Amino acid sequence: MISTISSTRFPQLLPQTHHDNKLKHFQFYCYAPIRNAPLSAVSTTNSTYVTSNFESQIHEIERLCEQSNTEASILLTEQSIKDGFPIQLQTLLRLLQCCAGSRSLALVRKAHYLITRSQPKTSTLVFRYLASIYYKLGGSTDARQLLDKMLQKTRPVNKRRETYEKVRELHKEIREIGYLPDTRYVLQDIDEKAKEQSLMYHSERLAIAFGLISTPPGTALRIMKNLRICGDCHNAVKLMSKVVDREIIMRDNKRFHHFRDGVCSCGDFW
Ligand SMILES: [Zn+2]
Ligand SMILES: [Zn+2]
Repeated sequence: MISTISSTRFPQLLPQTHHDNKLKHFQFYCYAPIRNAPLSAVSTTNSTYVTSNFESQIHEIERLCEQSNTEASILLTEQSIKDGFPIQLQTLLRLLQCCAGSRSLALVRKAHYLITRSQPKTSTLVFRYLASIYYKLGGSTDARQLLDKMLQKTRPVNKRRETYEKVRELHKEIREIGYLPDTRYVLQDIDEKAKEQSLMYHSERLAIAFGLISTPPGTALRIMKNLRICGDCHNAVKLMSKVVDREIIMRDNKRFHHFRDGVCSCGDFW
């Protein structure tokens, strides 16, 4: 049987109804050459196969998973990704389930690799699920490494979001005590609202917001800036030092500014 097939050049000629496992493996290994074959050669053999190649490959991965043919489904997925086919997360999760069912840590690692390779922005839910599989199969080191990586990735994102939230909150507070954005410091040709937004996110204000969420109450904040602080930031930071009750020490390219309780040591001359 195998010898007849190995002489066959294209996989579409393989009998689709055959359920022998070895044959299925063989069928997979034959998939690779078809894409590299000249289109004319392929189309004379079976044109519908070419157009539906991707769908049939996905279908085949899922079929192999259903039949718990884990290694073959891994190999086919790997090949599809190499060939540039985007494999949906749904299919990858089915593959992962299949690997978990096989109770082979090595196969779960392969599925893990394929998931991260084909879905670089994989959600934390998927990683948690993956970690739970590792734990179940005795791969606690894999699980821990995965969770550590996940934490390293999510922490800065959360901090960034928190920083932006904090800067908005600060502006609400300083507006209440009289802050009015001086949009003359924005040189871009944009409307007033956009100018106010742009001032709000000047780097020193983001640095202050970040400092506030990262340090205990009352800690002095030290900020370095290699450009001269703009007049609107100077005014805003004075008011911030008042509402947050912190000392803010800022070094710009000209001098030090010590902001405390709404005033600056430079006396507004710098
Ligand atoms: Zn500024
Ligand atoms: Zn100053």
